[in-house]
Amino acid sequence: MTDFGIDKALQELGLQEVNKGTSTGNLHFSSGDIIESYSPVDGKLIGKVSTTTKEDYEKVMQTATEAFKTWRTKPAPLRGEIVRQFGEKLRVKKEALGKLVSYEMGKSYQEGLGEVQEMIDICDFAVGLSRQLHGLTMHSERPGHRMYEQYHPLGIVGIISAFNFPVAVWSWNTALAWICGDVCVWKPSEKTPLCGVACQNIIAEVLRENNLPEGISCLINGDYKVGEFMTKDTRVPLVSATGSTRMGKIVASEVAGRLGKSLLELGGNNAIIVTPDSDLKMTVIGAVFGAVGTAGQRCTSTRRLIIHESIYDKVKNAIVEAYKQLRIGNPLDENNHVGPLIDKDAVAMYNKALEKVVAEGGNIIVEGGVLSGEGYESGCYVKPAIAEASNTFEIVQHETFAPVLYLLKYSGDVINAIEIQNNVAQGLSSAIMTNNLREAEAFLSVAGSDCGIANVNIGTSGAEIGGAFGGEKDTGGGRESGSDAWKIYMRRQTNTINYTTDLPLAQGIKFDL
Ligand code: NAD
Repeated sequence: MTDFGIDKALQELGLQEVNKGTSTGNLHFSSGDIIESYSPVDGKLIGKVSTTTKEDYEKVMQTATEAFKTWRTKPAPLRGEIVRQFGEKLRVKKEALGKLVSYEMGKSYQEGLGEVQEMIDICDFAVGLSRQLHGLTMHSERPGHRMYEQYHPLGIVGIISAFNFPVAVWSWNTALAWICGDVCVWKPSEKTPLCGVACQNIIAEVLRENNLPEGISCLINGDYKVGEFMTKDTRVPLVSATGSTRMGKIVASEVAGRLGKSLLELGGNNAIIVTPDSDLKMTVIGAVFGAVGTAGQRCTSTRRLIIHESIYDKVKNAIVEAYKQLRIGNPLDENNHVGPLIDKDAVAMYNKALEKVVAEGGNIIVEGGVLSGEGYESGCYVKPAIAEASNTFEIVQHETFAPVLYLLKYSGDVINAIEIQNNVAQGLSSAIMTNNLREAEAFLSVAGSDCGIANVNIGTSGAEIGGAFGGEKDTGGGRESGSDAWKIYMRRQTNTINYTTDLPLAQGIKFDL
């Protein structure tokens, strides 16, 4: 892999030791079993990370608890200054980190760079926000009284993240949580542990340079059992968990059982509605990028195309033609469009989905299959596939995290397409391709898309950090990133101050002594 500059990137990120196979990981504390991280790009061992034991976790929590006492008293704009410096370091390390993301996760180098850019963008957003974080002032019914609300930090925020956005999701949470005055404990996916160590190295440098405790940002490593340390821990008032709906349901009930808060960003089953008034070229680009980008492993990947019967054949043929041009191979090579799936389990799930859609009566129009031979040694490269299907198929109702696109047909009014689009358990991202104002507004109306994200003449994937990100129903209901998503990282307090010498009671209650 030296030809793609991976060794240099690992060195720049302080990971040269892991490249030699030395165990590392949660900097000072991890002493548990070793996770070996293999690249889906070429099947080679990238490095090893030691996992966090319960005893290690206790030390992490002590460090975080201590750090919170210092951090919460720093004025928010000063916390913003630390986040600004973190964003500056990310700018310097953008190529190296983007490369590691691409090599460890398997997405294209361009998408790896895009992920780091999102981290930089959320830092910029958080820096501005650190001078806001505002509550409201209300009028008291009592004379000589003032009433207002303010926001205080929560404490320790637990972050559990998925493999497919191994660095950006952490930053969406942590950049906001930090300016809010919280400290964070992050458990990255066990499938992308080196991305976690690389990020920790970057923020640790910033904290060191500012004489701040490293406990402001803590890293724990391991699988769901390590995640459970946080979901069961009353010292963690908020757990932000990104991943499958299956995981979200377990985390939600565990955290709710101790009356903690959870922020859930779970699976999607995203559709694009293609109406007779759509622009064919835009539809093809939006649908193909949405379905095959990141090898179909985005929470916002396009899974379903709901096409009007009058243009069905035209759209279908154009998309099939576009699929013929796709180049599948090493994602670090910018000539390729589609990289590998994360691992062989994901390949098995992809195969199963294709078998299932056929068994349910679907018609495969672009054949799938696992690629082998030179360049495909990792066994994780698959062909993007397309099947004509029905929305009622069990497999279509399910999120298959792979490049499998289902074509569905609708007839009559756009309302019928919206009904199909909403008729799944998930509610993350949705889109309509139309130049017809009536259709676009119907899609965005109260009776339109039931998703957290609804786009017009844009595909389902590729959100900007300025908006709140997340979805409804089985997607979990959480919102991260822009708009007022910061509020979940804080606790609200209502304050009433009496500046008179009397003590009038609210609601006119009399209590004379
Ligand atoms: P996953 O659910 O297998 O794992 C996600 C994380 O949760 C991992 O860190 C894992 O160790 C941890 N985890 C699993 N079970 C747990 C438990 N019981 N307690 C505590 N932690 C637990 O998901 P994945 O395969 O890594 O990621 C793919 C999924 O993530 C897809 O469904 C995708 O749609 C979803 N996703 C959603 C968003 C979003 O913003 N909505 C973003 C990215 C990914």
